[in-house]
Amino acid sequence: MSYPYEAPQSQSLFERASAVTPGGVNSPVRAFRAVGGTPRFMVSGTGPYLTDADGREYVDLVCSWGPMILGHAYPAVLDAVREAVGRGTSFGTPGQGEVELAEEIVSRVAPVEQVRLVSSGTEATMSAIRLARGFTGRAKVVKFAGCYHGHVDALLAAAGSGVATFALPDTPGVTGAQAGDTIVLPYNDLAAVEEAFKLHSGEIACVITEAAPGNMGVVPPKPGFNAGLAKLCRENGALFVSDEVMTGFRVSKAGWYGLEAAHEGWAPDLLTFGKVMGGGFPAAAFGGRADVMAHLAPAGPVYQAGTLSGNPVATAAGLAQLRACTDEVYATLGKVAETVSSLVGDALTKEGVAHRLQKAGTMFSVFFTDEPVTDYAAAKRQEAFRFTDFFHSLLADGVYLPPSAFESWFVSAAHDERALEKIAAALPAAARAAALAKPAEELR
Ligand SMILES: *Cc1c(COP(=O)(O)O)cnc(C)c1O
Repeated sequence: MSYPYEAPQSQSLFERASAVTPGGVNSPVRAFRAVGGTPRFMVSGTGPYLTDADGREYVDLVCSWGPMILGHAYPAVLDAVREAVGRGTSFGTPGQGEVELAEEIVSRVAPVEQVRLVSSGTEATMSAIRLARGFTGRAKVVKFAGCYHGHVDALLAAAGSGVATFALPDTPGVTGAQAGDTIVLPYNDLAAVEEAFKLHSGEIACVITEAAPGNMGVVPPKPGFNAGLAKLCRENGALFVSDEVMTGFRVSKAGWYGLEAAHEGWAPDLLTFGKVMGGGFPAAAFGGRADVMAHLAPAGPVYQAGTLSGNPVATAAGLAQLRACTDEVYATLGKVAETVSSLVGDALTKEGVAHRLQKAGTMFSVFFTDEPVTDYAAAKRQEAFRFTDFFHSLLADGVYLPPSAFESWFVSAAHDERALEKIAAALPAAARAAALAKPAEELR
């Protein structure tokens, strides 16, 4: 397709970036490969808006892929960061900020009795898996196709389907040995998990799942799915690791745990966090049962460390953000998510575009399909080509969506009337573009 407008400054920056950085970006999905065109280089953000290098303003529905739950440049977070920076940026010693952030997490999420701070979600899941293996003395890990847990070697395996298929590495550079202990199963399929526990009796260290997946688009767990995983893990001596890097402190004060498990009366053994808890800085965490966490060095034998873990600036930002995330903020987020998703649904319905809006708390995304999407295979059956034209129409009208049909959309509590009106005004043309979209092979 032809793109509705040019972005000369972004284009020039992208050319320079591509000369010195593979693909011109430091994280692949930023490169617009799935939708084509030039990625926008952003220079500033305020509230629900981003401004690119060409001076164009966008309503941001990515929010840094989740962290910016209060909007960009939130005053209390900026103040905390300025104050922390003034005291120095890293000491390599314990500090008060990391104690307070850990206390905040422990007080919000009941099953987290102890927590270890790290610098990225990837580190959190990698360390949780190592701890689960160290604690149980077992090697195998169950994950679900379409769930993303960061770029941990063993967890990049997503190929293979059916019961207990040993995963082949999904990417060059991950060896068979690294992925060989990973069992990839279809999401929302408890019978497959039960079967895997039978086939690999006494060998499975843990089951890891996104608490509510947002990395294949939003595919909520079926009622009872997570509870069933927790039960199967308990019965088989494995740990249940709930990856809340995306959902944690976003979908409720206590994350997905607070929406589901807390009411159903069960708990994960370990949980991982990132994104929102860093306030836009590299801070992440994993935590859970004290008896399991006690196996981590220096209390126990499972090694885990980090030069910048618990960094004073990052923890100050995270703490300020979490403290500002009140019940009121979560209520506002709920309203904004409801408004945006119904605007999208109405616009697509009006143009007769087959779609499913799927939600998990305040996360949502649209699939261009008639069928309910309950796993990765169904997600991939959508007419993703429609998303490309939908995306570019919105971009041209100043609305910034994740540049992929397989990502959650993120709102903030700063999305106000003006931002919502801008989205509402842009949607009819985008829905029309989606209706008129042709698959790539018809265009050739
Ligand atoms: C983003 C994400 C990760 C990885 O976090 P990074 O900070 O990007 O390493 C892990 N798990 C889930 C569920 C995520 O959404």
